[in-house]
Amino acid sequence: MRDEISSGGVVLFGNAVLLLRKFNGDWVLPKGKVEPGETREEAALREVGEETGVKANTIKYLGEIHYTYKENWDENKDVHKTVYWFLMKAKNMDTVPQKEEGFVEAKFIHIDRVADMAKYDDEKEIIKVALEEINRILERENYKS
Ligand code: ATP
Repeated sequence: MRDEISSGGVVLFGNAVLLLRKFNGDWVLPKGKVEPGETREEAALREVGEETGVKANTIKYLGEIHYTYKENWDENKDVHKTVYWFLMKAKNMDTVPQKEEGFVEAKFIHIDRVADMAKYDDEKEIIKVALEEINRILERENYKS
């Protein structure tokens, strides 16, 4: 058994959220391993930049997910993974998918469709948490104006 820690972003631009399409067709959120000396938030921002080409700012921490998968070199060894998620705002919509990592497309998807498109149930849940938070922020902004 081995523990792995990653961080990622639910990245908003206007009324769209950033997803990555893998070579096998799965749509996933951008994320990656937290490196030594790096905070979870720094890792999330770096991974979003590396995997999608998008520059972003963090708005708030959303929560963590856990899953287990098998080491590809040993079926008997489990990896226990934790991923910390941050809500982010993109500075622009220009995307460059990281082809070397197997991502064929990085795309902003309308908020009405993004949870349905995401491959993994735990990522769907984090997207829903993010969309609730976005609605709260928008309501507060409307109240002020
Ligand atoms: P990272 O992007 O953190 O560097 P990675 O690309 O090395 O990670 P994962 O994306 O965690 O690895 O994928 C490892 C295994 O876990 C794969 O079999 C993948 O299908 C599965 N997996 C990936 N994300 C999830 C998830 N959110 N829920 C459940 N299983 C997942």
